[in-house]
Amino acid sequence: MTLYKDLHQRSISQREAFWGEEAKRIDWHKPFGKVLDYSRPPFAKWFVGGETNLCHNAVDRHLKDRGTQKALVWISTEVDRVESYTYQELFKEVNRTAAMLRSLGVGRGDRVIIYMPNVPEAVFAILACARLGAIHSVVFGGFAAASLAARIDDAKPVLMVTADGGSRMGKVIPYKPLVDESIRLAKHPPSKVLIFNRGLDPDMPSVPGRDIDWKDFSSKEENIPCTWLESSEPSYILYTSGTTGMPKGVQRDVGGHAVAMATSMPYIYCGGAGETIFTTSDIGWAVGHSYIIYAPLIAGMTTILYEGLPVRPDAGVWWKIVQDYQVNVMFSAPTAIRVLKKHDPALLKKYDLSSLKHLFLAGEPLDEPTHAWIAQGLGKPVIDHYWQTETGWPVLSAVHGIEKTPIKYGSPSFPAYGYDLKLLRESDASEAGADEKAVVAIVPPLPPGCMSTIWGDDERFVKTYFGDFKDQLVYSTFDWGIRDQDGYYFILGRTDDVINVAGHRLGTREIEEAVNMHSAIAECAVVGVVDALKGQMPLAFAVAKDATLVATREGQKALEKEIMDTVDRQLGAIGRPKAVHFVTLLPKTRSGKTLRRSIAALAEGRDPGDLTTIEDPGALQQIKDCLGIL
Ligand code: AMP
Repeated sequence: MTLYKDLHQRSISQREAFWGEEAKRIDWHKPFGKVLDYSRPPFAKWFVGGETNLCHNAVDRHLKDRGTQKALVWISTEVDRVESYTYQELFKEVNRTAAMLRSLGVGRGDRVIIYMPNVPEAVFAILACARLGAIHSVVFGGFAAASLAARIDDAKPVLMVTADGGSRMGKVIPYKPLVDESIRLAKHPPSKVLIFNRGLDPDMPSVPGRDIDWKDFSSKEENIPCTWLESSEPSYILYTSGTTGMPKGVQRDVGGHAVAMATSMPYIYCGGAGETIFTTSDIGWAVGHSYIIYAPLIAGMTTILYEGLPVRPDAGVWWKIVQDYQVNVMFSAPTAIRVLKKHDPALLKKYDLSSLKHLFLAGEPLDEPTHAWIAQGLGKPVIDHYWQTETGWPVLSAVHGIEKTPIKYGSPSFPAYGYDLKLLRESDASEAGADEKAVVAIVPPLPPGCMSTIWGDDERFVKTYFGDFKDQLVYSTFDWGIRDQDGYYFILGRTDDVINVAGHRLGTREIEEAVNMHSAIAECAVVGVVDALKGQMPLAFAVAKDATLVATREGQKALEKEIMDTVDRQLGAIGRPKAVHFVTLLPKTRSGKTLRRSIAALAEGRDPGDLTTIEDPGALQQIKDCLGIL
């Protein structure tokens, strides 16, 4: 038996022994009594009775051996700044931030919404929450006020932490007016807002009595003891899109998360203490949580936090960082590589990349040509791996820390240890054979580190993720997959109405709801269509309340622009449709379900599939007319 297969098999057949052993990688204030409590399927409680703290494991425990090693290096090509923090300095900053948060009333179990760009203070705030036993919920800075308000109302935070603004292409993006608007819209606004003023927005509005300036407040030095939490208490909530308009609050635990992070670094990423990792994501995404912050710091590595684009000042900037900071492990997304592909390939060779062991890519399908281009250009292994916000760490990956299995372009290799993965037929939940497209499913219990529930809604958790296959309690990833004759997996896109725009996950329903906010729109359908750069883009088909508004090309153009602005305002520019087409009728089944899959197929030049249930075939003809299909 090979090493990888052995590891994987052991992790499933001797689940508790396997994870009990891995749990030694972190510090426990109080040892756990039981590795797994699975008495209430599908809810899994890992390391029951154990007490620990994520901030202790990420910061405090390194002070003795690596206090003077760099923990965090912030590089901003937006504001041309670099800041470094040793573990000792990080400890100080986190304590200072925890003191601030505590004096603002934040305690164990309280929620804190963090709406910040990639700046060190965001990392301090996240770790300070962990230290106090508070639950952070980071919202990606690209989301608009209404989206932020929906998350505020779900999380009911005692405090929001934000900055005056972010920066993109050297242009300031004010955050504060948007935060103010979200608080105005929210039914459960926090009573205080802590603002890290970067000096980017001289006109930043301020609300006396509610808004607090980080710098005024943060002068005193204080050591705040870690609050020891029981392993399955919540550590954070991260909202992610699904098939309904309301995003789901993915809730993660403390102990399972810490162990999963600690394990993935040596096994999957081949990273170790003293090494440097550069993850190009945003702290607002799961990748940012896990692989900019928690896993690298728990492992005692130096983590690089980057604020900027991959092509500014030029498309060699990331490789220059690899050279200058001796990066050993790098993690990015396929879209970024497709962007780089449009630039001079000589830039891949311009810098000394000898420190780099490999590049990991995830978040969206990695097409074979892009995989080949970057692997050959860098002359390094490029490892496609697959996971979801829900899982928090890879589900499918080569496990090169155990065995250097060969990489196949376009494939995220094999199930990671801990995952009892199955490809199940949609029709009857039976197992698919080799080369047969089926749903990627995980037999519970989900391994440590995966979501423990949906915040505040256990029932929705069970219904959403475990309700897809009747008679069988299995977790659906909502992704199609296929396994070839050699056992390599390939991901073939979503089974639901979720689309992936440049690695960002969006629900088509969320975009539809944003479009519908325009008063001239009666209803609409949004589908994802293939895009050469971003992987997918949303495309909208809308019915205007008054057809005369869109009777002319000019009228259509004007309303299209207004709808795009509405989506920007409601959801954020990441949800903006590529185009809005106007129809008088949407293709629906007789029971009233919009035939999104058929619309998407037509838009991509594919066969629209089974149309026997369509209410009015004329509606499909209108879609074809818009798309110029004969
Ligand atoms: P998110 O939770 O935003 O990270 O999105 C997770 C979704 O992104 C998955 O369910 C997949 O649809 C997609 N995804 C993530 N990684 C990969 C990958 N390596 N290959 C194909 N699709 C991926």
